[in-house]
Amino acid sequence: SIVYLNGQLMPMQDARISPMDRGFLFGDGIYEVVPCFAGKPVGFKLHMQRMQQGLTELGIAQHFSDAQWQDIVAQLLSANGGGNLGVYLHVSRGTQMRRAHAYPSDVTPTVFAFTFEIGHAPSADPTQARTFKAVTEQDRRWRRCHIKSTALLGNIMHYHQGQQQGADEVLLFNEQQQLTEAASCNVFVVKDGVIATPLLDHQILPGITRYILLEVLRRHSRFDVQERSISRAEVLCADEIWLTSSSKEVAPVIELDGKPVGQGGIGPLWSEVQALFSAHKYDF
Ligand code: PLP
Repeated sequence: SIVYLNGQLMPMQDARISPMDRGFLFGDGIYEVVPCFAGKPVGFKLHMQRMQQGLTELGIAQHFSDAQWQDIVAQLLSANGGGNLGVYLHVSRGTQMRRAHAYPSDVTPTVFAFTFEIGHAPSADPTQARTFKAVTEQDRRWRRCHIKSTALLGNIMHYHQGQQQGADEVLLFNEQQQLTEAASCNVFVVKDGVIATPLLDHQILPGITRYILLEVLRRHSRFDVQERSISRAEVLCADEIWLTSSSKEVAPVIELDGKPVGQGGIGPLWSEVQALFSAHKYDF
């Protein structure tokens, strides 16, 4: 595939960065993943806003405009044949010739981007849907999970622990036994027709899919939707549990800690909600 590195397109096997890059040494960088179906990005502006917030929070002086990013995305989509591609965008603080914790002042950020196949947009047909098994764990990540940092060690360790137990995802709970998110997704729970998801704070990533889903439900559905803290007990007796992320959109969890969620199988609200998401996801 063709990738973008510091202003140039090149074959992936030719892309080179220094091992002294702070992204490599410290995970000192920000990333985004923008899903594009038939060349059309979902939530592009929202992804750009979140990336800029992350860069600002880390004090990384990388100031591409949305139009410049859009141009990089367009170049990559066309160089890689279009179709359904995820675009990964990455900005690290840059390369310096000595390893030091202090943020350097005279460094140029490293900008790297590549595409990967994401297949068809998720279907709202329960017979076609990918379903997920999840397990629960105490959230052991840092307290700045709102930053979409490339330093994902906490997330990948949770994810791996889930895989070791035969699960596809891990639902995480803080020390007060409140739901935070999953290792690579946000989480929604449904009880008696009420849809709830944890509030935005430092414990979760402000997911773009989460945002779009909340907006779509508020504008176009009859459902009661709540952002609030959610206890472990509520999750364990939920009628439905959904994961949201750019690649999964809204995905049903049908098994939690080895037990069926709700009545077992995909719940009745999921299909309607994923269909609404599909219908309105380009509105943002
Ligand atoms: N939470 C975490 C920890 C993530 O890595 C992701 C990324 O996919 C999400 C939530 C979902 O975010 P988005 O909907 O922006 O893809």
